Amino acid sequence: MTDLTFAGLGVAEPILRALAQENYTHPTPIQTRAIPALLAGRDLLGIAQTGTGKTAAFGLPLLQKLSVGHVPPRPKEAKALILAPTRELAVQIDESLRTYGRFLNLKRAVILGGVSQNPQVNTMRGGVDILVATPGRLLDLVQQRHIRLDAVQVLVLDEADRMFDMGFIRDVRKIVGYLPKERQSMLFSATMPDDVVKLVGDVLSNPERVEVAPQSKTADRVTQSLYYVPMPQKRQLLSALLKDVSLNRVIVFTRTKHGANRVAEHLSKTGVPAEAIHGNKSQNARQRALENFRGGKARVLVATDIAARGLDIDDVSHVINFELPQEPESYVHRIGRTARAGGDGIAISFCDQSERGLLRDIERVIRMKITVVPHDLPELTPEELKAVEERRQAHGHRHGKPRNHHGGGHKGGLGHGGGHKGVHGHGDQAGHPQAPKKRNGSRPHWKRGGDKKRENAA
Ligand code: AMP
Repeated sequence: MTDLTFAGLGVAEPILRALAQENYTHPTPIQTRAIPALLAGRDLLGIAQTGTGKTAAFGLPLLQKLSVGHVPPRPKEAKALILAPTRELAVQIDESLRTYGRFLNLKRAVILGGVSQNPQVNTMRGGVDILVATPGRLLDLVQQRHIRLDAVQVLVLDEADRMFDMGFIRDVRKIVGYLPKERQSMLFSATMPDDVVKLVGDVLSNPERVEVAPQSKTADRVTQSLYYVPMPQKRQLLSALLKDVSLNRVIVFTRTKHGANRVAEHLSKTGVPAEAIHGNKSQNARQRALENFRGGKARVLVATDIAARGLDIDDVSHVINFELPQEPESYVHRIGRTARAGGDGIAISFCDQSERGLLRDIERVIRMKITVVPHDLPELTPEELKAVEERRQAHGHRHGKPRNHHGGGHKGGLGHGGGHKGVHGHGDQAGHPQAPKKRNGSRPHWKRGGDKKRENAA
């Protein structure tokens, strides 16, 4: 946060009133730098992730531009187009714009896959000022001539790196092809791989470049700790941790959709209200799960990486990595859910023997060692491990090839990661001779690459 005010950045009165109602007293760093440039009509490249206040950074100037000398939209047209990779993010952006624009008389619509197109077509009949959309369905409706993009004055591409990851980029490029050349454009991305750099060159014209809080910085604000725990004991450890009431609003990350369901079911059965959110659920079910979590009906939200991407939920007390993510960057995104808008948070990770390699990758990215905390779960006997393993296999789990592990760089009992209590005991499980050799942490080759697209295809 800075000493500047929104008024000082040039934000106009009806928007200032809405911001005051939200208790936004000071602009965040990305807002401070982006808003004046955008109000001056520049294009913008924002290298930032969710949690930095980027929605208001592009949203406030966009609302202002559309409301000054407002001319009602013509049928089927949109004056501003915001593309987001996931349905949740699109809904969230729309809700933020509704909030910031509550004293303006602008028409909005959201176009998403996974739900009936008819209400969307009906809304677009009269045209809108602001259209937030996921790429697939939007392109579909444009090609069916339900939506015209030739009046778009402002384009926002949000989470461009995810657009690539999820295979939407061809659709995005086609959509950009329908837009007028004369327009203001903004692109936001948490990372800048070569593909995104190329897209920037194609879509933006002489952009102002604003880069805030490199990913590793988010990690600095989150108190992180790690338990070495064999996979079969993870649920037990999770239940033990949740006995601590300070874990009052918890997001648990799993690697797979089935894993998310299983953990949520386990928690619900043991009396902890939990919801699962992932790409196999209908849009309505996902919104319902989110609302239950936001509203406090569910204490735990179990999520996969893609489903949780960009989710903006206030006051998440803890993030628990039930399984470590395949991509180390996802770890940073995950723990960022508990340190929104400059706050602090607590992240706890579970690491099975087979996930040691993933842990090393993560520690390389965040440039620090995560504090290891011992737990006091009983050690499983080889027989118990075998029985658990057989049960898991009977339930259709896939396994990687067993491999020999060499202990990592951690020592047990280094201290307490902070914030959570009550599960202490043995020391490091790392060198546990009975730790299961299974789930080598890498996905089988036939599954690589395709998951994300399927999971959240919009
Ligand atoms: P975003 O990065 O756009 O997802 O925003 C992250 C969170 O910060 C959201 O909950 C916003 O409501 C909140 N936020 C954005 N700008 C400000 C601000 N200037 N002051 C306080 N909260 C903010």
